[in-house]
Amino acid sequence: MDSQVNYMPVASSLNWDEYFMLQAMIASFKSKDPNTKVGCVFVDDNNHQLSMGYNGQIAGIDESKIPWGNVKSVPLDQQKYAYVVHSEANAILHAKADLAGSRCYVTLFPCHECAKMMATVKIKEVVFLSDKYNGSVENQIAKKIFDMSQIKYRELKLKPSIVTDLSNYFHSIL
Ligand SMILES: [Zn+2]
Repeated sequence: MDSQVNYMPVASSLNWDEYFMLQAMIASFKSKDPNTKVGCVFVDDNNHQLSMGYNGQIAGIDESKIPWGNVKSVPLDQQKYAYVVHSEANAILHAKADLAGSRCYVTLFPCHECAKMMATVKIKEVVFLSDKYNGSVENQIAKKIFDMSQIKYRELKLKPSIVTDLSNYFHSIL
């Protein structure tokens, strides 16, 4: 018998960026928001996950009395914007570890309110999937906050083959 029979070249299907962005996407899938689902994960330099979050209602309140609609022609207290806690805020609020120096993988570029919190806890990098509000005032403020805080940000494009590979894999284990 060949003594080398069990030795073979192997490789992970995902790099770290892909792995954590998929985690952020899974987190977003948990959101009840019918229009915008956002998820994020914070990781350290050793690629260990520190915290995760998705956009949701205030913990512990009766959600049936809170609006999920995004129509802005009604007063603010009847819009979701008055109540929703963003994914990054949830992840920061529920983190069990210090987030200083961490990277944040997030499915949507952070808003300026979350940027304030991310800068305050001194994260070092934001990796985002979508920047659909690029150019808006809030988006520009978020980028200004990151720039002033020396927080890097970069877009991650997931190869379409990842979704196909993942789908095939899931089907194979179900
Ligand atoms: Zn936000």
